[in-house]
Amino acid sequence: MAADLATMTPTPGDPAPAAGPAPAEDGWPEQTRIVRTPIPGPKSLARHAHRKQVLSDGLGTVLPVFVERAGGGILLDADDNHLIDFASGIAVTTVGSSAPAVVRRVREQVAKVTHTCFLVTEYDGYVQVGEILNRLTPGTHAKKTALFSTGAEAVENAVKIARVATHRQAIVTFGHAYHGRTLLTMTMTAKNIPYKDGFGPFAPEIYRAPLAYPYRWPTTAERCATEALAALEDLVVKQIGANNTAAIVIEPIQGEGGFIVPPAAYLTGVADLARAHGIVLIADEVQTGIARTGEMFACEHDGVVPDIIVTAKGLAGGLPLSAVTGRADLMDAVPAGGLGGTFAGNPVACAAALGVFETIEELDLLARARQIEALARPVLEAAADGNGWIGEVRGRGAMLAVEFVVPGTKDPAPDAAAAVMAACHRQGVVTLQCGTYGNVIRLLPPLVMSDELLLDGLAVLTDACKGL
Ligand code: PMP
Repeated sequence: MAADLATMTPTPGDPAPAAGPAPAEDGWPEQTRIVRTPIPGPKSLARHAHRKQVLSDGLGTVLPVFVERAGGGILLDADDNHLIDFASGIAVTTVGSSAPAVVRRVREQVAKVTHTCFLVTEYDGYVQVGEILNRLTPGTHAKKTALFSTGAEAVENAVKIARVATHRQAIVTFGHAYHGRTLLTMTMTAKNIPYKDGFGPFAPEIYRAPLAYPYRWPTTAERCATEALAALEDLVVKQIGANNTAAIVIEPIQGEGGFIVPPAAYLTGVADLARAHGIVLIADEVQTGIARTGEMFACEHDGVVPDIIVTAKGLAGGLPLSAVTGRADLMDAVPAGGLGGTFAGNPVACAAALGVFETIEELDLLARARQIEALARPVLEAAADGNGWIGEVRGRGAMLAVEFVVPGTKDPAPDAAAAVMAACHRQGVVTLQCGTYGNVIRLLPPLVMSDELLLDGLAVLTDACKGL
C-alpha cells in the first residue's frame, strides 16, 4: 500500500513536458489507425456489460469502447485498437486530449491547491482566465467574466444575468436549438426525444423562433435570412412584446441541431433587432467557441458582437469549466452572491484553461482549424457529388457535417446516417450523429490531428457513403 501511494505522489523534481505536439513516448498513442478486433472489442464489451449493471440506462453512449489513453488524433481502447477521433469528446479536446501544456499546468496546480471555492477565498488562475476571455471575446467595450463548471450551468447564469439587468423575463430561443439538460436549458432546447420527453413541466417564459436553416427553409435558401428575421421580429414585437424580452439566445452555428450555418446577414439582423429593443444578445458558443471554427468565437465570422458570450467544452481541454463573458454593466447587475457555485471556476480547471490558450497560440490552432476545413471540405464535397444520399455538406473550420436525405428528396435519412456511422465505427473512426432528425454526421477532430489521420478517417467516411 505504501508503495502504491508513493507512485501516486508527484515528485517535485519531475521534468515538466514541453508545450507543443508531444512525441509518442511522452504519452500519445501511435498516430495510426489500427483495428485489431471487432469494434467494440471483447474487453470493451465485457466492461460495457458490467457498466450496464452499475450505471443508469439514462446514460447513452455512442460507441461503447473503453478508452485507456488518448492524444493527438487517436483514442487507444482497451483492446489495443487505435481509433481516429472525429468527436473530441463532443468538441472538448480541441487542443487534443492531455495536451502537454494542459498536463504541465494541471500537474503544477493540483500539487499546490485543488480547491478553495472562489466564494470563500480567491486565487489567480480564475482571474487570469477571466482576463483572457474579456480580451479575446469580440468587442472593445468593458467586459467581465464569471466562471462555472458546465455549459448548461453557464447558459442558465447568462439568462439570470440578462433578466436581472433588464428587469424582463422572456427568453427567445430557436428551432433546432440545444442548450443543455437542466430544467431551464432543456426547456430552451428544441428537440423532444431524448432531451425533454417526460421531463416536464418545463420552465416558463421561454419562446421559440424558427431558425434560419437555409437547406430546409420552406421557401428558398435565398429568402431564408429575410423571412426568418421577419418571423423573429413578429415573435418579439407582436407576440411577447419587446419590453418583456430579456434575451435572445442563439448558437452562432447550431451544434446538436445539425451544424446549421446561418445565412449571411442573419446573425447581424438578430443582433440589430436585439439592440434596437434593449434585448440582451447571448451567443451560446459552448460548442463553437475556443478556436473550433477557425476563429476564437464563431460569431466573429459574421462580425457580430454579442452582449454576452457563453463558453465551455473546449475552454479547459477536458476539465469541467465554463464561462459567461459579457458587457461589464450587465455582468455587474447581479448583487454579490447571486452568481457562483461550490466548484465553479475550480483552480485545476482554470490551470487547464490557461494551458489551452497557451496551446492555441503556440501551435496557431486558429489557422489549423481553417486548414482542416481546406483539407476536409473538398473530400466531403467530392463524396457528395453524384451521391443522392448526401443533401448538404456544411460547417466551418473543424466543425463540419454531412446531412443525409432520401435520394431525390429532402426527406431526412437518419438510417443512412446511422449506417455510415456504424461503418466508420467498425473501421476505427469515431464519428457522431446529430440533427433534429438524426440525419447528420458531424466531424469535430482535435485541431492537433495530423493531415494523414484526417485524410485516412475521411476516406473511411466517404467509402461508407459510397456503400449506401
Ligand atoms: N450549449 C451548446 C451549444 C451545447 O452544444 C451544449 C453541449 N452539447 C451545451 C450548451 C450544454 O453543455 P454541457 O453539456 O456542458 O452542460
